Amino acid sequence: MIVNARRRLGAFDLEALEEATRAALQRAGARLLEELLEETEDDSAAPVCSCGAAMRCEGPRSKRLVSLLGNVSLRRLYYHCRHCWRGAVPLDHDLDIEGTQYSPGVRRLLAVVGGEMPFARGCELLAELAGIAVSVKAVQRQAQAIGSDLAARAESDRRQAALRGFPPQTGAPIPTFYIEMDGTGIPVTATAAAGREGKDGAAARTREVKLGCVFTQTELDAEGRPVRDGSSTTYTGAIEDAEAFGQRIYDEAWRRGLHRAERVVVLGDGAAWIWNLSHIYFPKAIEIVDIYHAREHLWELGRQLFPQDRKQRRRWVRRRKKQLDEGRIEHLVRFLRSLRPETPELVEKLRTEAAYFEGHAERMRYAEFRRQDLFIGSGVIEAGCRSVIAGRLKRSGMFWTVDGANSIIALRCAQISNRFADYWEDRAAA
Ligand SMILES: [Zn+2]
Repeated sequence: MIVNARRRLGAFDLEALEEATRAALQRAGARLLEELLEETEDDSAAPVCSCGAAMRCEGPRSKRLVSLLGNVSLRRLYYHCRHCWRGAVPLDHDLDIEGTQYSPGVRRLLAVVGGEMPFARGCELLAELAGIAVSVKAVQRQAQAIGSDLAARAESDRRQAALRGFPPQTGAPIPTFYIEMDGTGIPVTATAAAGREGKDGAAARTREVKLGCVFTQTELDAEGRPVRDGSSTTYTGAIEDAEAFGQRIYDEAWRRGLHRAERVVVLGDGAAWIWNLSHIYFPKAIEIVDIYHAREHLWELGRQLFPQDRKQRRRWVRRRKKQLDEGRIEHLVRFLRSLRPETPELVEKLRTEAAYFEGHAERMRYAEFRRQDLFIGSGVIEAGCRSVIAGRLKRSGMFWTVDGANSIIALRCAQISNRFADYWEDRAAA
């Protein structure tokens, strides 16, 4: 055995051996791919040009392609129309490599890493793990192109559904069906932010991504708290206005079985657009304002009413929190309105806070929601804002265009919702 001889010489390096073997197999594989795909004889009927004339074969032409096996040179037949001078390579169409130098297998990997991590990092990892050398720009372009295609297909499906109605739903009833929505800012280019005012009247540096998720709940844990059904969460989102997002989240809910749901719950913070959409699209839903946001309003009030005295503040908040947790919102509102603070700022603050609790009173019956075994916090969508959006799009040095961000958001939502593989197969079949 060579191994024994090498060991005696003390020069055995398995890593070098496995890398060299893999590289040799890749090179051999690339040659095999070239032979398998070589098209030299014109044995099929000549294609018909879009002008109606028959095209004539002009013999094979070469094309460089980056494949999973490295660079290959493909020879495929080129056809030409003598009537209108158009050229065509039917094999490129059949192989799904029209107008691109990347094979479908490589494009899929570019989309996977581009959705998952910064483009430069994805580029490094592809070289390290798969031995595929491409530019950072290539990762970005391909990932965004595939994300845009994903988004465009979903958009066209939504339009079809809006015109023809949604297909009927079949399947078992879903006991409790949750829809959560939230907004989170991501850093954008000056052009993407143009004309928008940020905080303090300065030019905006961010745009809001609206993110929604759908999940289901069947069981309770040992302590009787609701448990989210395993892998039942899917996400959808984009930088877009509330109207467009409304159709998006409704479509997502429909796909997930909205009309098989026995109970529908909408959870969110106090943002007005969330409740407007809930009212329009999910009129029968139980609406719940995230309890932690509501409590944070009380803490903020406490800080302003008792800026110095922490002990008094804590006591005050504890009492108000009790009213809130018990869902006795009318008592809380009446109490807030009975206060007579000294400064006009505090008067105004109390006025708006009382209005906040009053406006959301029916969405804050927490004791009742607990009795019904419902989630009362919107932690799922907040975690989604961090993991789906911020973890990839809100990193230092990143400035997104709206289209660029939306393509990556579409890609990530598909990946995290386990829909990317289906999309890719459908795409290839089409
Ligand atoms: Zn022609």
